[in-house]
Amino acid sequence: MTISEKVAYIQGLYDGLGLDREKSGEARILSEVLDVLREVGQQLDGVDAAMDQFDEELDALGDTVADLEEAVFDDEDEQDEDLSGFGDGDEEEDFFQIPCPTCGEDLLVDDEALAAGVVDCPVCGGKFALSFEDEDDSSEE
Ligand SMILES: [Zn+2]
Repeated sequence: MTISEKVAYIQGLYDGLGLDREKSGEARILSEVLDVLREVGQQLDGVDAAMDQFDEELDALGDTVADLEEAVFDDEDEQDEDLSGFGDGDEEEDFFQIPCPTCGEDLLVDDEALAAGVVDCPVCGGKFALSFEDEDDSSEE
């Protein structure tokens, strides 16, 4: 039951009482209140109708956007794979060589030596600790 229908029902009750709004102040007030309620109900009906129309237009707009997305972004998924192959053929070596501080032999510093922080020289048998401290350039002239 909508508000308009409820107002019409109350209006019917009011009319059924046979009140004389010319002689009864209460009857007049009730009649005025019913008039206001009827207007409120009519305006709400108009709002509902407008909302229904708005819904329809919004649905149509959503369909149009979906069609546009399909037209513009079609095949988009197929392009996502390309990024994974980036950098192939350009592998960086994960080790480097440093000269042995004792005998000058080039020593391979691999991940294992880096993790241990110590390099064993196979030529002279010396051990030395790896140091990655930056040179202090401020001492330069
Ligand atoms: Zn050495």
